[in-house]
Amino acid sequence: MRVPLKQMIDLGRYISRKKRAGEKYFPLVLMLEPLHACNLACVGCGRIVEYKDTIRDMMPLDEALASAEECGAPIVSICGGEPLMYKHIAPLTTRLIEEQKRHVMICTNAILLERFVKQVAPSSYLSFNIHIDGMRETNDRVVDRKGHFDIVVKMVKMLKDKGYRVQTNTTVFRETSAEELEELVKMLGGLGVDGMLLSPGYHYQVLTNDDLYLKKEEMPYKFQRVRSLADDYKIMNTPIYLDYLVGERDLLCSPWTTVTRNPRGWKGPCYLITNGHYQTFKELHDATDWEFYRTKQDIRCRDCKLHSGFEGTVALEFGNSLKDSWRMVRHYMS
Ligand code: SF4
Repeated sequence: MRVPLKQMIDLGRYISRKKRAGEKYFPLVLMLEPLHACNLACVGCGRIVEYKDTIRDMMPLDEALASAEECGAPIVSICGGEPLMYKHIAPLTTRLIEEQKRHVMICTNAILLERFVKQVAPSSYLSFNIHIDGMRETNDRVVDRKGHFDIVVKMVKMLKDKGYRVQTNTTVFRETSAEELEELVKMLGGLGVDGMLLSPGYHYQVLTNDDLYLKKEEMPYKFQRVRSLADDYKIMNTPIYLDYLVGERDLLCSPWTTVTRNPRGWKGPCYLITNGHYQTFKELHDATDWEFYRTKQDIRCRDCKLHSGFEGTVALEFGNSLKDSWRMVRHYMS
């Protein structure tokens, strides 16, 4: 399965419970950034630019655990920065799983994985999201580290051998051709990864280099190729979101479904754009006009097709259309 069955069941129950309680703006995923320091300096990474003044800050373990409690999202994606550089990464992961029963995803560039797997055993609540942005030449150029592609391949094999669940996360930039995407998907399929997420390059508000990112009109061709591979390979993008990326349907955004907590506080309104950092989850909600962002009225939303905002919409709308729901079930069960 492209998504763990237990995670799907827990998420479905959580959404039903929230809807029955009459809640509209509730989180599905917490993006927990306990630090912004990284051992790579990828081209196109907004974090190392936006947080250059606090790049050495690290969230205390108790604060990281309390953030997950405060927000209540069933899925916690530990990212950053490079989360495996966080000195409390092992206890954070195990305590989120054992004490809070959260589904934990570690978003990592794989460089420090050998150390981590000595500390944390495989679990049905744990998966890795490994960063790989193309085949060898493209990936190593984008992450600005020769040999990184080979490290990823080696670490994916090691994780699969040890029984961990492994997903990959690929950002598609302008220079990534449709042919290369196909080659990458086939290569990752051959390595036995459990899921692959491919999404358009994020245009962080702090970045000015427009040439890196796919223009709206460039997305359809590349993502048509991705969509054509989704039946045969474990691509995790939902079919509805892929329809959106190829321009065959429109979606509203649901930025409240994926909330970001970092050492400065709760970042709002979304993963990409920052109006401020709030000290409590409630303050973030009180300060944010979710309807304004849902309807993409902010100028910064203009070309955005960020998966977390739009896949959140797909998850919340599950069940509204029989046809879409059946496509989703088939997609996830295959
Ligand atoms: S469309 Fe959604 S995810 Fe994208 S910038 Fe706007 S609020 Fe953020």
